[in-house]
Amino acid sequence: MKNTKWIALAAMALMLSACGEEETKPVSQPQEDLVENENEVEKEEVVEKEEDVEEEVIEEDAEPQYEINEANWTVKPIADAPSKVVLLTIDDAPDKKSLEMAKTLKSLNAPAIFFINGHFIDTDEEKAVLKEIHEMGFEIGNHTQTHANLKQLSEEEQRAEIMQVSDSIESIIGERPKFFRAPFGVNTDFSRALVKEQGMLLMNWTYGYDWESKYQDANALADIMVNTEFLTDGANLLMHDRLWTAAALTDIVEGLRAKGYEMVDPTTIKGVTTE
Ligand SMILES: [Zn+2]
Repeated sequence: MKNTKWIALAAMALMLSACGEEETKPVSQPQEDLVENENEVEKEEVVEKEEDVEEEVIEEDAEPQYEINEANWTVKPIADAPSKVVLLTIDDAPDKKSLEMAKTLKSLNAPAIFFINGHFIDTDEEKAVLKEIHEMGFEIGNHTQTHANLKQLSEEEQRAEIMQVSDSIESIIGERPKFFRAPFGVNTDFSRALVKEQGMLLMNWTYGYDWESKYQDANALADIMVNTEFLTDGANLLMHDRLWTAAALTDIVEGLRAKGYEMVDPTTIKGVTTE
C-alpha cells in the first residue's frame, strides 16, 4: 500500500509542469477521478451547511479551516469549512504586474498568496511594492531567490536560494514567509527539510495555463482557468505576474464565483507551525 502511494506521488511529481515560460504542457491532475468522486460526496453536505459555516469562519479565524492535501496539492476542509473553494496563487512576484493584480484582487475581495522571487525585491521601488501588497492583506510566499531549479544545485546553493529571499522578505515586511513553492515544482529532500525547518508550508499546485503560448491572451486564459476539467473543489490555481494574467484576473475570479467557488483565505490554511 505504501509502495503504491509512493509510486503515485513520484508519477505525479513527474507530471507536474513547472512554473515558467519554459513549460509547454498544462498541469494535469492524475488523481482527477478520485478527486471528482470526493467532490460528488461532499457537495450535498456543503449545500446544507453553507450558511452556518460562513458565519463561523469569521468568528473562528484563529483556528485553521483548511489543510493542503500533499497527494494532489488541493486545499481540503479540516472540519465543516466549505469545500467548494479554490486557492489563488500568483508566482514570480512582484515583477511588473503584481501590484496591479493585488489591487484587482482586493477590489474583488479575493484573497491570494503572492510567491516572491528575491531578484524582484532588490530596489527600493520593488521593496515598496512588496510592502504594499502585504499591507493590502495578501499572504507572501517564498519562491526562491533567482527562480532556480533546486535539483541542479548543491545543498549550500539551495540553502542560499531559500534563505536569502526569506531574509529579504522579513527585512521588508517584518515577518518571514509562511508558504513555499519551488520553481518548476521541483523539490529535493534537502529543500523539503529546510522549508519545514523554516516553518514554511510547502505546496505545488493543481493547474495553471498562463505560461502556454496559446493562453498568453486574456480571453483565452480566463476561459480555460474557469472551464478547465481540472477545476475541482479545493483546486490550487497557479498564475503568474504576467500581462495577460493581470488582464484576465477579474474574469477568472468572477467566472469561478459564477460556478459557485469561493476563494480560500490562505491564513486559514493549517501551516507547519500552527500545531
Ligand atoms: Zn515561478
